Amino acid sequence: MEAVGSDGIRVMMESALTARDRVGMQDFVLLENHTSEVAFIENLRKRFKENLIYTYIGSVLVSMNPYKDLEIYTKQHMDRYRGVNFYEVSPHIYAVADNAYRSMRTERRDQCILISGESGAGKTEASKKVLQYYAITCPASEHVQTVKDRLLQSNPVLEAFGNAKTLRNDNSSRFGKYMDIQFDFKGAPVGGHIINYLLEKSRVVHQSHGERNFHIFYQLIEGGEDDLLRRLGLEKNAQQYQYLVKGNCPKVSSINDRNDWKIVRKALSVIGFTDDEVEELLNIIASVLHLGNVQYGGEDSGSAYITTETQIKYLARLLGVDGTVLKEALTHKKIIAKGEELMSPLNQEQAASARDALSKAIYGRTFTWLVNKINGSLAFKVWTRSNASVIGLLDIYGFEVFQNNSFEQFCINYCNEKLQQLFIELTLKSEQEEYEAEGITWEPVQYFNNKIICDLVEEKFKGIISILDEECLRPGDASDITFLEKLENTVGGHAHFLTHKLADGKTRKIMGREEFRLIHYAGEVNYNVNGFLDKNNDLLFRNLKSIYLSICLAKLMEILMSKEPSYVRCIKPNDAKQAGRFDEVLIRHQVKYLGLMENLRVRRAGFAYRRRYETFLQRYKSLCPDTWPNWDGRLVDGVSTLVKHLGYKPEEYKLGRTKIFIRFPKTLFATEDALEVR
Ligand code: ADP
Ligand code: MG
Repeated sequence: MEAVGSDGIRVMMESALTARDRVGMQDFVLLENHTSEVAFIENLRKRFKENLIYTYIGSVLVSMNPYKDLEIYTKQHMDRYRGVNFYEVSPHIYAVADNAYRSMRTERRDQCILISGESGAGKTEASKKVLQYYAITCPASEHVQTVKDRLLQSNPVLEAFGNAKTLRNDNSSRFGKYMDIQFDFKGAPVGGHIINYLLEKSRVVHQSHGERNFHIFYQLIEGGEDDLLRRLGLEKNAQQYQYLVKGNCPKVSSINDRNDWKIVRKALSVIGFTDDEVEELLNIIASVLHLGNVQYGGEDSGSAYITTETQIKYLARLLGVDGTVLKEALTHKKIIAKGEELMSPLNQEQAASARDALSKAIYGRTFTWLVNKINGSLAFKVWTRSNASVIGLLDIYGFEVFQNNSFEQFCINYCNEKLQQLFIELTLKSEQEEYEAEGITWEPVQYFNNKIICDLVEEKFKGIISILDEECLRPGDASDITFLEKLENTVGGHAHFLTHKLADGKTRKIMGREEFRLIHYAGEVNYNVNGFLDKNNDLLFRNLKSIYLSICLAKLMEILMSKEPSYVRCIKPNDAKQAGRFDEVLIRHQVKYLGLMENLRVRRAGFAYRRRYETFLQRYKSLCPDTWPNWDGRLVDGVSTLVKHLGYKPEEYKLGRTKIFIRFPKTLFATEDALEVR
């Protein structure tokens, strides 16, 4: 091999058709026009067309759902990413997993992988890939093998009970999940812990058109052995069950319930459920189906009575309660009058909703019991915090904007606002630290700081949450509307807040009278205040609020702050769940709501590219006669000689203590091209 002079390089560069034109940039940071959303989307499109679903923004992984199986998750692929630096191989979820693992091992710092994106974007699949990567590549022993198996098998179980077919995703997680994987000092996975939140219990009793109930019901009906179904009093026909037909689609072509049943049964036993426990679990699932079929008639007095005796018979047996007691519970409510407890009859409508409430409560508790049981089985028995480290996996809803947005969207979007704040702060901080460590002057970065929006929501006494809590504590005349009025009086002047009354003519036309608008970092969202007070008061929503707002959010932030985070941003290419379809409008929307352009801006604020001297010299030394085949002097001098030979201008690069920093991508490309055409 011969070193090439700079003239030669230029000539050859011009004639070279590089792969980049076809497959795009593997790091958005290297895009020539990094502020252009058009260029961003084009790069995604190019790569998507070539089945290159992963692209970086610096160390953030952007992942496109391919909606087809790609041959990129084999053992060989895993091996390719083990112990290798981010930039030496093509972008992959395994690179993120491996990087987190290595940082945990070498820096002994807890890690956290944050996966976000909207429903169907591939979050859960990504977290499964991470888990598989650790299960297969990490060291094992006999005990560890059991833990690995259990970690892997917890997925099909949680999915059977917590996932359902929705319009947006045939296997949609209807609960949020944070999972810790615990590693011992040798780096072997020794335990795990799952925190679940916000199970969508309403799905148990009602599904929208084209959607299903939780998978487990259909798996049991389709796959359950004859004698099991007989014991449970169930028929092998989902159409028979009121709770399974609300969405009118018990069968889904992409789902094989019978097969999944086998997988779930096996998973339950790997996790350590005894046969008795499984039977108990299925008794409860069957009870919910029977409950759904309980029907009512009405007396002349209006009181409801039960017309379906068979269901009561099965329910009494499966739940182990007396039939008469059960019937009374399903048609009456307890009231206290003059200090005495009385049973007051319900009308038909009330009785039906009491029945549904019972079903939801039973299912919700069963799910919590299941998660606790899995946690028990994953618990590392001789676990001590001092000699172990943790990698957390957070599978969280991204920004949600619907036609009508309520308290739930408010919580979720605020949570995303906080995560964005954290992200920007940590990215800037680590950039700054690196510059300082390298002895390079820090140049202030212009970026949008969304702290102002976080404050608007969370500030003590005058933030939206404080005002809401205050209204909830004011008995009697407080309502959703007085809450809205109070908001107008308190935060009405805020630049990121608007209501119908405060808006100008044009905006007023498109805003409801019962809405307030927040201008989030990702865009504007109108929230309807209807139900805000009730939901804020409700126990169920307290749970939601504690996760998203007060305690969790704080706890979540604490978890994230104490750990070193990595980010995976998932994008859904189309709403049809189809391979190869790139719906630009939908994708642009997600790029916006995931804050990707802002990510990129912060990342590109200083230097697009940086590499350690030895790596840089090793890769490019053949391009300069003075550094080829070997450079004997100090590394920094070698790099300096090399880049001068290549014609780098002083403003294009800086030399730090151990690394070279290159400001523009094009400088690096010229060098890369020279290497390619040689
Ligand atoms: P989310 O959790 O974000 O709602 P999922 O992870 O459940 O979305 O993905 C939805 C569906 O998309 C999956 O069931 C699968 O069919 C497909 N999918 C997602 N990621 C991948 C991938 N990396 N490779 C192949 N198919 C995928
Ligand atoms: Mg999911």
